[in-house]
Amino acid sequence: MSILVVGSVAFDSIQTPFGEVDEVLGGSGCYFSTSASFFTDVSLVAVVGDDFPQEHIDFLQSRNIDLTGLQKSPGATFRWKGRYEYDLNEAHTLETHLNVFETFQPQLPESYCDAEYVFLANIDPELQLDVLQQVKNPRLVACDTMNFWIDGKKQALIKTLGRVDILVINEAEVRQLADEPNLIKAAEIIRGFGPKTLVVKRGEYGVLMFGEGSIFSAPAYPLEEVFDPTGAGDTFAGGFVGYLAATRNLTEHNLRKAIVFGTVMASFTVEKFSLERLKEIDYAEIESRYKRIKLLTDFADIG
Ligand code: AMP
Repeated sequence: MSILVVGSVAFDSIQTPFGEVDEVLGGSGCYFSTSASFFTDVSLVAVVGDDFPQEHIDFLQSRNIDLTGLQKSPGATFRWKGRYEYDLNEAHTLETHLNVFETFQPQLPESYCDAEYVFLANIDPELQLDVLQQVKNPRLVACDTMNFWIDGKKQALIKTLGRVDILVINEAEVRQLADEPNLIKAAEIIRGFGPKTLVVKRGEYGVLMFGEGSIFSAPAYPLEEVFDPTGAGDTFAGGFVGYLAATRNLTEHNLRKAIVFGTVMASFTVEKFSLERLKEIDYAEIESRYKRIKLLTDFADIG
């Protein structure tokens, strides 16, 4: 079953302690849709400028991503510049240039309005709501956001969250959005805004999922080398929602499996810059890491 995603398509410039790159392919929409494409069909709604090269379009199409909803507008593509210190869990934004996103008014192609699975990737919450309002009867709406939008458009974000089933968000942003330092209390406050399920990304410490009276914890995949964490969150979300859409099963048990598939997908992205690692893998590698995480957390009660 296919997923409709709205998010950023970007040129990223990134510095990590291990190297730096300039203007490589990035953006929440790109990471999400590439990751989800390993599980199901994806349609991407976004905008790029007239500086966006055909090479990147060819790549997204090679992953079978439907780009009917990708507009090309006069102007420059969205750009993000970020830096990481040795603590790779924290991204320091150096520059954000919305460029063509500033005037973007998404008009969904008719065929997208029947989407059953919708992912509102990290982008202006007003654009997220705009897209959502055009979808007739979605079965599942999941959403991501970041400090940039919590700082700048908190009320619009809270309005969008009123129509969201699952919010996927970083640990620090949970506290910021709820204005509450305790994570458990903060999760309850955010669930009060609308999303029944809250998925909290904690970088190398894994993921916590909060539902009605339940908490699930999954570790990150143990990697000896983490090169660049950019896109880990969006790639996680792509695997998570991709697996849910492919299996059409929204039970708690299946949500937990989806969390682990998301974790596996993110583990590939952080091994190289940009989408380079996702370009190399196949489904067998995904399954193999899934089995390793299962073993990592398997234990039996004694006596
Ligand atoms: P993450 O998965 O959180 O590491 O997401 C990183 C991606 O988010 C990068 O590829 C950026 O291009 C994109 N990004 C950064 N800031 C924003 C923003 N304000 N709105 C939308 N996308 C952004």
